[in-house]
Amino acid sequence: MGDNPMKAFVMNGIGETGFAEKEEPQAGPNDAVVKPTKGLVCTSDVHTLHGAIGERENLTLGHETVGVVEEVGENVEEFEPGDRVAVGAITPDWGSAAAQDGHPSQSKEPLGGWKFANVKDGTFAEYVHVNEADANMARIPEDVTDEEAVYITDMMSTGFMGAEHAEIPVGGTVAVFAQGPVGLMATKGAELQGAGRIIAVESVPKRQELAREYGADEIVNFEEGDPVEQIHDLTDGEGVDSAIEALGTSGTFEQCVKVTKAGGTVSNIGYHGEGEHVNIPREEWGVGMAEIDIATGLCPGGRLRLERLLRLIENGRVDPTHMTTHEFGFDEIDEAFRLMETKEDGIIKPLILFD
Ligand code: ZN
Repeated sequence: MGDNPMKAFVMNGIGETGFAEKEEPQAGPNDAVVKPTKGLVCTSDVHTLHGAIGERENLTLGHETVGVVEEVGENVEEFEPGDRVAVGAITPDWGSAAAQDGHPSQSKEPLGGWKFANVKDGTFAEYVHVNEADANMARIPEDVTDEEAVYITDMMSTGFMGAEHAEIPVGGTVAVFAQGPVGLMATKGAELQGAGRIIAVESVPKRQELAREYGADEIVNFEEGDPVEQIHDLTDGEGVDSAIEALGTSGTFEQCVKVTKAGGTVSNIGYHGEGEHVNIPREEWGVGMAEIDIATGLCPGGRLRLERLLRLIENGRVDPTHMTTHEFGFDEIDEAFRLMETKEDGIIKPLILFD
């Protein structure tokens, strides 16, 4: 590897995309090079393209991928060429101070584990470089398809983290704001965590239907009235034990605080890509003394977590593929981006086929 040109789908300044020729990556001693077979486009790719993390030139986009190992460095022990693997969207530096302190996703700086399509080329290319391969990818079991496995790289890991951070008591009540793919996986995660009642906030019928499939007991349609009032009505004015923010707007974040009862938890997994501030409603937050915790997190990485998520698929606990609404060849990826931006044609997740 390393001497031949390959094709990559890149960002060329804010809002501009195109295909570029790049050199194939090489594996350092601890790294791997993977040839993608399937990928998913993420709403955060669209945020990146529109400048959420600043201007980028000739940066390969994408961070959700599965593929086949092409090359491994001399220190890699867990993998060999030919292995079918899922690559974490977040690929931490496991020796970093933040990792040693229990926050691997943050690595050397805040969000430092987020490398693909941020500080290094992403995964929408013919070959992908994976740092610290033993810790940042997982072998896909025989019974799990590539299409299933690609959902663990970000959607399941992030969505389930939303439920894990929400401190849901067994039998407790949960509200999940927004049922995009991450919100849907937060709903499923809440079910797996033992929630007794799950209220999903969503207006799009197809997403409402999937929310029910993934464990929602009730749907609150914000187009039919204030969701805070509706949730208070549903809970006899009590509010919920846990609220999960899966949209990334200050408005929904405020609503999450307003529906959470004293002692409860607001778990944020929304990507707040716009605006100057995210506001906490002072009174409903009990003037800072109602013991309403606010948890945040970036998609957890790591081979062991990826393996646990694969186990859930392997044993039929979750089928994420119902979120795949569209398929595109790698050559047609521009159209997938366009649809993710406009959200037209009922799109939830577009699967990108590399082979
Ligand atoms: Zn993503």
